[in-house]
Amino acid sequence: MPRKQTVILTAVMAVAALALGWILLAVGRAGDEAGPEFPTSKMFDTGELLHLTETLSGDALQGRYMGSPGGIAARGFLHKRFERAGLKPLGETSYEQPFTTVPPPDASENFPKEGANLVGLLPGQTPGEGKMIVVTAHYDHLGIVKDEIYNGADDNASGAAALTAVAKYMADHPPKHDIVFALVDGEEEGFLGSRYLVRSGVIDLSRVALNINFDMVSRSDVDELYVAGTYETPGLKPLVSGIQSEAHVKVLTGHDSPDLGEDDWTMQSDHGAFYEAGIPFLYFGVEDHPDYHKPTDDFDKIPQDFFVRSVETLIMAVEDADQQLDSLDLTITEPANPVGAH
Ligand SMILES: [Zn+2]
Repeated sequence: MPRKQTVILTAVMAVAALALGWILLAVGRAGDEAGPEFPTSKMFDTGELLHLTETLSGDALQGRYMGSPGGIAARGFLHKRFERAGLKPLGETSYEQPFTTVPPPDASENFPKEGANLVGLLPGQTPGEGKMIVVTAHYDHLGIVKDEIYNGADDNASGAAALTAVAKYMADHPPKHDIVFALVDGEEEGFLGSRYLVRSGVIDLSRVALNINFDMVSRSDVDELYVAGTYETPGLKPLVSGIQSEAHVKVLTGHDSPDLGEDDWTMQSDHGAFYEAGIPFLYFGVEDHPDYHKPTDDFDKIPQDFFVRSVETLIMAVEDADQQLDSLDLTITEPANPVGAH
């Protein structure tokens, strides 16, 4: 190759290399400046929370119907998070607490017969002694109805994923009291998993001072998260006031008085199983939205910023409850009416 051509070629290659380098640098910088495309938190790994919620509510899990392959797969993903948080199995050697159901006489033929809770223990400062807290969230949903998948992103992939974030945070900031984290099955069929958990004897109910339940915690257009349970146990008000003042979303009390009719949420999720057993509860959840119990309750409808701040609030609630548990008056002044339970 003539010398002149070699020089020109070398120059062209150098310019090309420089240009390529500049482009790569620019792309790299743009990536750095943009940061992750989701909200972050100082309290927990928001990428993990969002990824888990998206996985649980993906079409592949087919609506997580109790006992279905999708429900079992969901449990597998959640099981890994319990392991990562270092929770101890409760009672037996595994987190899994399988149970069978007796379908009611009027049940359809595909009423689920087998389910399983995931139950893990985070020991406090005096393991096996003193008061304890049980934190619950159901991971099942409605499955496939008339060929449509009910993904249940808000109900209750959000609460199940939130529970794993709370468990990880509390494991990293060890609590005073023993805390049981329970992801329960069969809520949609009438609290099957939580009622089994309460009745199974795997938890010493005489030590359970409080149930904190998460069900639908990711969606609000008005930045509001409700906490129910102070109507039944007024002594929880000082705890709730503290949570309200430090929360990163608006926390409203309500939805827990019998004169509200359908808007009384006292017996509308798993905390009802604890309330029936005479245990005070705090239930966290959002107002019903147009996608509630519809096939459109999808991950892409979740406002991620609200969801992250909601989970931060749930972490504060569990942390505060643990700190204040021994000083609270936990008398239930409005006991559950077993006849009215359904
Ligand atoms: Zn639910």
